Amino acid sequence: MKYYSTNKQVENVSLQEAVVKGLADDKGLFMPNEIKTLPAEFFENIDKMTFQEMSFEVAKAFFGEDVEEEALKQIVYDTLSFDVPLVKVSERIYSLELFHGPTLAFKDVGGRFMSRLLSYFIKKENAEGQVNVLVATSGDTGSAVANGFLGVEGINVYVLYPKGLVSAIQECQFTTLGKNITALEVEGTFDDCQRLVKSAFMDAELNEKFKLTSANSINVARFLPQSFYYFYAYAQLKKLGKEKEAVICVPSGNFGNITAGLFAKRMGLPVKRFIAANNRNDIFFEYLKTGEYNPRPSVATLANAMDVGDPSNFARVIDLYGYSHANICKEIGGARYTDEDITETIKECYKNTGYLLDPHGACGYQALYDLLQNGEQGIFLETAHPAKFLSTVENIIGEKVEIPAKLQEFMKGTKQSIEISKEFDDFKLFLMNNLK
Ligand SMILES: *Cc1c(COP(=O)(O)O)cnc(C)c1O
Repeated sequence: MKYYSTNKQVENVSLQEAVVKGLADDKGLFMPNEIKTLPAEFFENIDKMTFQEMSFEVAKAFFGEDVEEEALKQIVYDTLSFDVPLVKVSERIYSLELFHGPTLAFKDVGGRFMSRLLSYFIKKENAEGQVNVLVATSGDTGSAVANGFLGVEGINVYVLYPKGLVSAIQECQFTTLGKNITALEVEGTFDDCQRLVKSAFMDAELNEKFKLTSANSINVARFLPQSFYYFYAYAQLKKLGKEKEAVICVPSGNFGNITAGLFAKRMGLPVKRFIAANNRNDIFFEYLKTGEYNPRPSVATLANAMDVGDPSNFARVIDLYGYSHANICKEIGGARYTDEDITETIKECYKNTGYLLDPHGACGYQALYDLLQNGEQGIFLETAHPAKFLSTVENIIGEKVEIPAKLQEFMKGTKQSIEISKEFDDFKLFLMNNLK
């Protein structure tokens, strides 16, 4: 299948090129030329399939023309080697827990899928030289991508993160790995990290010498596999006989996750509507209200993975709906919450239901609580384990929170990182001297 750029200033490219490039040459985001609908029998039987089985069918619709069937099956089965339970929190509200993967981040699916697909293309081509993955992170992307690519031959990963601005647990998850993973500690903010990575992609000299790609959700191989989650959510609701009028609420930052859900709906998944939950970075919420998109610098909140002032996948959302604000509003609702709201939600939900939310999931839960209509069933995506925001959550509920064994493992390693300034010249010099 071919992929076009949302800016429509360049020729269509192959899947391989879309994955290796990340961003199109006209700075647009790649979109598949066609979104196939799955047959009615698939949805009738979906509750009898395993997560891996149904995801393989979804993956074939996207990637079946470009990846041999057996190889694709292996990529999917290998990617999804963990569970994604649906937990009832209160009457009509369910939590889809996306944090049972290797780094306890929902981005594990995209990180693992992309690393295996990229490695498939490298082997098929027998390509010379290494592919260099550059990734900017405010916390969770770095760990999921680094762990997804750890030990994968032919690929080196460089994680850029803001010094002193990620949680201790998150930092351990990508600085202690070694092998083909290098952590670059940037004297600056997340925005500086993202700017450095973008400048590298635009630098002619670097691109001539090296193969560079991005593992942020602009990459189709990172964001599309997230659609698997939505099919599985629906299947679990169907098992309970509650699948009519399902509403899925997604705590959103760069809007990669929710866009994958919108793709699932376009493939025929019978979800009634979506809700995008924002924190104080409410650019999308304002867009729904006014029809105007006004990006602005992000502000720091308790739900830090949603601190995005110019969501990169907004370009995909408007493209998917033919640039019609009215059509977007028909399928997507919005909500926004302050840090005070988030704190109150975590406290109240824990007191009343016994379910412990993290700050991101809190926005999702509260949006359903506020906006669910009669007859609807709500699922919110619980995108992080509460222990990742240990002191915040413990202070709110006044109790100790247990750290899962998987997270504790990461905290045993030794931190290795290279400090760099926020100047592009320094970053470029590092890349020129170290990339292969
Ligand atoms: C990445 C992330 C989000 C936001 O996801 P997007 O795809 O960027 O919208 C929400 N919560 C957590 C915990 C995350 O790590």
